[in-house]
Amino acid sequence: MPDNQEQFKYLLKQNGLKVTTQRIAILEVLNSRPGEHLTAEEIYDFVRVKYPDIGLATVYRTIQMLSELNLIDKLSLDDGYVRYEISKNDTEETGHHHHHLICLDCGNIYTFQDDLLETLEMRIKETLGFEVVDHEVKLYGHCKKCRGD
Ligand SMILES: [Zn+2]
Ligand SMILES: [Zn+2]
Ligand SMILES: [Zn+2]
Repeated sequence: MPDNQEQFKYLLKQNGLKVTTQRIAILEVLNSRPGEHLTAEEIYDFVRVKYPDIGLATVYRTIQMLSELNLIDKLSLDDGYVRYEISKNDTEETGHHHHHLICLDCGNIYTFQDDLLETLEMRIKETLGFEVVDHEVKLYGHCKKCRGD
C-alpha cells in the first residue's frame, strides 16, 4: 500500500491543499477500512495510534474539510451518528460507491456494490434530458441473522 500516500498527496495538491500529516493520516485510516463507516471519534482513535499528538479538534476540522472537497463521504445511516468513508474508492475501475443496507432489527450496516441504477440514469437522461452525476441508496430491511435463516 505504499502508493496510497502518493495518491493522497496528489489528491490534496490537486484540490489546492497543503499536504499535511493529519490530512494524509485521516485519508489513510478511512482508506484502510472500507465499509466500516467510522465516526469522527473513531477516526480520531485510529489516527492517534500512529500520531499521538493529534488533537480531536484538528481531526474534526480536517474531516470537515476533506468532506467538503468530496475526498471523503459523509453518511447518515440513521443511527444518530455522522459517519465517514473514503470517497468512491471501492471499485477503482468504475469509481462506483457501494450502497448501504440497514437492518431495522440489529442496526448493522451491510454494503453491496451492484445496482441497476446506471440503466435508470441513462433512461432519465434520454427521457428528461437530466444528467445524473451521483446517487445515494439506502435500503432498509431485516438481515439474514435477524431473520433467523
Ligand atoms: Zn459505505
Ligand atoms: Zn439484523
Ligand atoms: Zn449505485
